[in-house]
Amino acid sequence: MPIHEKSLIRPEQLKVHEKLVVDGVDVSGHWSTFIEPRVVTDYNERLQEEIAALPGGEYIHRCWQCGSCTNSCTVHAVNPDFNPRYWIYLVRMGMESELLRDRDIIWQCVSCNKCTYACPRDVMPEGVMKATAHWLELKGHTPKSKSMIFDEVFTAQVIETGRIEEGRTIRGFFERTGQPLAQQWLVTIVKRVARRLPFRQGFLMAWSTLFRPRTRKWSRARAALTEYVHGQEAKRRKALNLE
Ligand code: SF4
Ligand code: SF4
Repeated sequence: MPIHEKSLIRPEQLKVHEKLVVDGVDVSGHWSTFIEPRVVTDYNERLQEEIAALPGGEYIHRCWQCGSCTNSCTVHAVNPDFNPRYWIYLVRMGMESELLRDRDIIWQCVSCNKCTYACPRDVMPEGVMKATAHWLELKGHTPKSKSMIFDEVFTAQVIETGRIEEGRTIRGFFERTGQPLAQQWLVTIVKRVARRLPFRQGFLMAWSTLFRPRTRKWSRARAALTEYVHGQEAKRRKALNLE
Protein backbone atom coordinates (compact mmCIF):
# COMPACT_ATOMS: atom_id res chain seq x y z
CA MET A 1 0.00 0.00 0.00
CA PRO A 2 1.75 3.17 -1.10
CA ILE A 3 2.08 6.03 1.32
CA HIS A 4 0.63 9.29 0.03
CA GLU A 5 2.40 12.29 1.32
CA LYS A 6 2.78 15.92 0.54
CA SER A 7 6.44 15.74 -0.36
CA LEU A 8 5.57 13.55 -3.34
CA ILE A 9 3.61 16.44 -4.84
CA ARG A 10 6.13 18.70 -6.47
CA PRO A 11 5.20 22.40 -6.80
CA GLU A 12 5.31 22.14 -10.62
CA GLN A 13 2.51 19.56 -10.45
CA LEU A 14 0.11 21.97 -8.72
CA LYS A 15 -2.11 23.93 -11.08
CA VAL A 16 -4.14 26.90 -9.89
CA HIS A 17 -6.52 28.91 -12.08
CA GLU A 18 -6.50 32.56 -11.18
CA LYS A 19 -9.97 32.97 -12.70
CA LEU A 20 -12.29 29.97 -12.93
CA VAL A 21 -16.06 29.77 -12.75
CA VAL A 22 -17.70 26.32 -12.80
CA ASP A 23 -21.50 26.14 -13.12
CA GLY A 24 -21.76 29.73 -11.97
CA VAL A 25 -19.60 29.12 -8.90
CA ASP A 26 -16.38 31.13 -8.65
CA VAL A 27 -13.58 28.70 -7.79
CA SER A 28 -10.70 31.02 -8.64
CA GLY A 29 -7.31 30.80 -6.93
CA HIS A 30 -6.87 28.35 -4.06
CA TRP A 31 -10.27 26.73 -4.66
CA SER A 32 -9.25 25.55 -8.10
CA THR A 33 -6.04 23.77 -7.08
CA PHE A 34 -5.49 20.62 -9.12
CA ILE A 35 -2.69 18.09 -8.96
CA GLU A 36 -1.49 16.94 -12.36
CA PRO A 37 -1.73 13.15 -12.68
CA ARG A 38 1.62 11.45 -12.52
CA VAL A 39 2.54 8.07 -13.88
CA VAL A 40 5.82 6.54 -12.72
CA THR A 41 7.17 4.13 -15.29
CA ASP A 42 10.90 4.20 -14.62
CA TYR A 43 11.06 2.01 -11.51
CA ASN A 44 14.41 0.53 -10.66
CA GLU A 45 13.28 -2.81 -9.32
CA ARG A 46 16.77 -3.55 -8.03
CA LEU A 47 17.22 -0.31 -6.11
CA GLN A 48 16.67 -1.82 -2.65
CA GLU A 49 19.05 -4.69 -3.49
CA GLU A 50 21.67 -2.21 -4.69
CA ILE A 51 21.51 -0.12 -1.51
CA ALA A 52 21.47 -3.29 0.64
CA ALA A 53 24.68 -4.44 -1.08
CA LEU A 54 26.57 -1.42 0.29
CA PRO A 55 27.90 -1.17 3.87
CA GLY A 56 25.17 0.23 6.13
CA GLY A 57 22.26 -0.57 3.83
CA GLU A 58 21.88 -4.24 4.79
CA TYR A 59 18.76 -3.86 6.94
CA ILE A 60 16.73 -1.45 4.82
CA HIS A 61 14.11 -4.16 4.16
CA ARG A 62 13.07 -4.07 7.83
CA CYS A 63 11.65 -0.52 7.66
CA TRP A 64 7.94 -0.19 8.43
CA GLN A 65 7.82 3.57 7.83
CA CYS A 66 7.04 4.69 11.38
CA GLY A 67 8.96 7.96 10.86
CA SER A 68 10.88 7.85 14.17
CA CYS A 69 14.15 8.36 12.29
CA THR A 70 12.99 11.58 10.67
CA ASN A 71 11.38 12.82 13.89
CA SER A 72 14.63 12.43 15.78
CA CYS A 73 16.96 13.58 12.99
CA THR A 74 19.37 16.42 13.74
CA VAL A 75 19.50 17.65 10.16
CA HIS A 76 15.73 17.37 9.63
CA ALA A 77 15.27 19.79 12.55
CA VAL A 78 17.02 22.52 10.56
CA ASN A 79 16.12 21.38 7.05
CA PRO A 80 12.69 19.69 6.72
CA ASP A 81 13.65 18.48 3.22
CA PHE A 82 16.16 16.10 4.83
CA ASN A 83 13.93 13.10 5.39
CA PRO A 84 15.50 9.65 5.96
CA ARG A 85 12.13 7.89 6.26
CA TYR A 86 11.03 9.29 2.88
CA TRP A 87 14.25 8.25 1.12
CA ILE A 88 14.02 4.75 2.58
CA TYR A 89 10.48 4.62 1.22
CA LEU A 90 11.67 5.69 -2.25
CA VAL A 91 14.44 3.10 -2.25
CA ARG A 92 12.07 0.32 -1.19
CA MET A 93 9.61 1.35 -3.90
CA GLY A 94 12.35 1.54 -6.54
CA MET A 95 11.60 5.19 -7.28
CA GLU A 96 15.08 6.12 -8.41
CA SER A 97 14.20 9.29 -10.30
CA GLU A 98 12.42 10.69 -7.21
CA LEU A 99 15.45 9.84 -5.08
CA LEU A 100 17.76 11.62 -7.53
CA ARG A 101 15.85 14.85 -7.03
CA ASP A 102 17.34 14.99 -3.52
CA ARG A 103 20.85 13.92 -4.50
CA ASP A 104 22.28 17.26 -3.30
CA ILE A 105 21.12 16.90 0.30
CA ILE A 106 21.31 13.18 1.11
CA TRP A 107 25.05 13.45 1.89
CA GLN A 108 24.30 16.03 4.62
CA CYS A 109 23.75 13.31 7.25
CA VAL A 110 26.07 14.16 10.16
CA SER A 111 26.22 10.57 11.49
CA CYS A 112 24.86 11.55 14.90
CA ASN A 113 23.00 8.20 14.98
CA LYS A 114 19.92 9.61 16.75
CA CYS A 115 17.85 7.84 14.10
CA THR A 116 19.61 4.55 14.81
CA TYR A 117 18.66 4.74 18.50
CA ALA A 118 15.08 5.77 17.69
CA CYS A 119 14.43 3.06 15.09
CA PRO A 120 12.21 0.28 16.45
CA ARG A 121 13.20 -2.11 13.67
CA ASP A 122 17.00 -1.90 13.79
CA VAL A 123 17.14 -0.62 10.23
CA MET A 124 20.25 1.43 11.12
CA PRO A 125 19.03 4.47 9.15
CA GLU A 126 22.38 6.23 9.55
CA GLY A 127 23.97 3.36 7.67
CA VAL A 128 21.28 3.54 5.02
CA MET A 129 22.02 7.26 4.53
CA LYS A 130 25.71 6.47 4.12
CA ALA A 131 24.94 3.61 1.73
CA THR A 132 22.64 5.85 -0.31
CA ALA A 133 25.25 8.62 -0.53
CA HIS A 134 27.82 5.99 -1.53
CA TRP A 135 25.42 4.60 -4.15
CA LEU A 136 24.95 8.08 -5.64
CA GLU A 137 28.72 8.43 -5.98
CA LEU A 138 29.34 4.96 -7.40
CA LYS A 139 26.58 5.45 -9.96
CA GLY A 140 28.08 8.80 -10.97
CA HIS A 141 25.08 10.87 -9.86
CA THR A 142 27.22 12.98 -7.52
CA PRO A 143 30.96 13.67 -7.32
CA LYS A 144 33.01 11.79 -4.77
CA SER A 145 32.37 13.38 -1.36
CA LYS A 146 35.15 14.58 0.92
CA SER A 147 34.16 12.00 3.51
CA MET A 148 34.58 9.24 0.94
CA ILE A 149 38.00 10.61 -0.03
CA PHE A 150 38.95 10.70 3.66
CA ASP A 151 37.87 7.06 4.06
CA GLU A 152 39.99 6.07 1.05
CA VAL A 153 43.10 7.87 2.35
CA PHE A 154 42.63 6.39 5.82
CA THR A 155 42.04 2.84 4.56
CA ALA A 156 44.95 2.95 2.13
CA GLN A 157 47.28 4.00 4.93
CA VAL A 158 46.11 1.28 7.32
CA ILE A 159 46.43 -1.40 4.66
CA GLU A 160 49.84 -0.19 3.57
CA THR A 161 51.48 0.25 6.97
CA GLY A 162 49.25 -1.41 9.57
CA ARG A 163 49.24 1.85 11.51
CA ILE A 164 47.17 4.97 11.94
CA GLU A 165 49.23 8.15 11.65
CA GLU A 166 46.89 11.12 11.97
CA GLY A 167 49.44 13.57 10.54
CA ARG A 168 49.89 11.54 7.36
CA THR A 169 46.15 10.99 7.02
CA ILE A 170 45.39 14.71 7.24
CA ARG A 171 48.22 15.54 4.85
CA GLY A 172 47.02 12.94 2.33
CA PHE A 173 43.42 14.11 2.66
CA PHE A 174 44.34 17.77 2.10
CA GLU A 175 46.46 16.82 -0.93
CA ARG A 176 43.62 14.80 -2.49
CA THR A 177 41.06 17.55 -1.90
CA GLY A 178 43.33 20.43 -2.97
CA GLN A 179 43.39 22.10 0.44
CA PRO A 180 46.39 23.94 1.91
CA LEU A 181 48.06 22.24 4.87
CA ALA A 182 48.51 25.44 6.85
CA GLN A 183 44.89 26.05 7.77
CA GLN A 184 44.26 28.35 10.70
CA TRP A 185 42.18 25.88 12.73
CA LEU A 186 44.79 23.17 12.26
CA VAL A 187 47.68 25.46 13.21
CA THR A 188 45.78 26.43 16.39
CA ILE A 189 45.19 22.78 17.33
CA VAL A 190 48.81 21.81 16.64
CA LYS A 191 50.07 24.71 18.79
CA ARG A 192 47.80 23.78 21.69
CA VAL A 193 48.66 20.09 21.51
CA ALA A 194 52.39 20.83 21.15
CA ARG A 195 52.34 22.88 24.37
CA ARG A 196 51.11 19.91 26.42
CA LEU A 197 52.75 17.02 24.60
CA PRO A 198 55.72 15.25 26.27
CA PHE A 199 58.88 15.72 24.17
CA ARG A 200 59.31 12.01 23.34
CA GLN A 201 55.75 11.64 22.12
CA GLY A 202 56.00 14.80 20.04
CA PHE A 203 59.23 13.58 18.50
CA LEU A 204 57.70 10.19 17.63
CA MET A 205 54.67 11.87 16.06
CA ALA A 206 56.84 14.15 13.93
CA TRP A 207 59.03 11.21 12.92
CA SER A 208 55.99 9.12 11.95
CA THR A 209 54.59 11.98 9.89
CA LEU A 210 57.82 12.44 7.95
CA PHE A 211 58.70 8.78 7.46
CA ARG A 212 56.44 5.80 6.89
CA PRO A 213 56.80 3.39 9.79
CA ARG A 214 55.14 -0.01 9.41
CA THR A 215 53.91 -2.59 11.81
CA ARG A 216 56.47 -5.41 12.00
CA LYS A 217 55.68 -8.51 9.91
CA TRP A 218 52.76 -6.71 8.34
CA SER A 219 53.11 -8.06 4.80
CA ARG A 220 50.89 -11.15 5.26
CA ALA A 221 48.16 -9.14 6.95
CA ARG A 222 48.41 -6.55 4.17
CA ALA A 223 47.99 -9.22 1.49
CA ALA A 224 44.93 -10.66 3.28
CA LEU A 225 43.38 -7.22 3.76
CA THR A 226 44.02 -6.23 0.15
CA GLU A 227 42.40 -9.42 -1.08
CA TYR A 228 39.38 -8.88 1.18
CA VAL A 229 38.93 -5.24 0.14
CA HIS A 230 39.22 -6.07 -3.56
CA GLY A 231 36.74 -8.93 -3.12
CA GLN A 232 34.23 -6.64 -1.42
CA GLU A 233 34.64 -3.95 -4.09
CA ALA A 234 34.10 -6.50 -6.84
CA LYS A 235 30.93 -7.76 -5.10
CA ARG A 236 29.55 -4.22 -4.83
CA ARG A 237 30.32 -3.38 -8.44
CA LYS A 238 28.54 -6.54 -9.50
CA ALA A 239 25.51 -5.76 -7.30
CA LEU A 240 25.32 -2.28 -8.80
CA ASN A 241 25.79 -3.59 -12.32
CA LEU A 242 28.90 -1.48 -12.82
CA GLU A 243 30.96 -4.15 -14.57
S1 SF4 B 1 22.59 9.96 11.62
FE1 SF4 B 1 22.01 11.25 9.88
S2 SF4 B 1 19.95 10.60 9.35
FE2 SF4 B 1 20.37 9.84 11.40
S3 SF4 B 1 19.58 11.40 12.81
FE3 SF4 B 1 21.73 11.87 12.47
S4 SF4 B 1 21.77 13.30 10.74
FE4 SF4 B 1 19.73 12.32 10.77
S1 SF4 C 1 12.65 4.62 12.42
FE1 SF4 C 1 13.25 2.71 11.40
S2 SF4 C 1 11.34 1.65 10.94
FE2 SF4 C 1 10.84 3.78 11.42
S3 SF4 C 1 10.80 4.81 9.40
FE3 SF4 C 1 12.83 5.07 10.22
S4 SF4 C 1 14.05 3.37 9.41
FE4 SF4 C 1 11.88 2.86 9.14
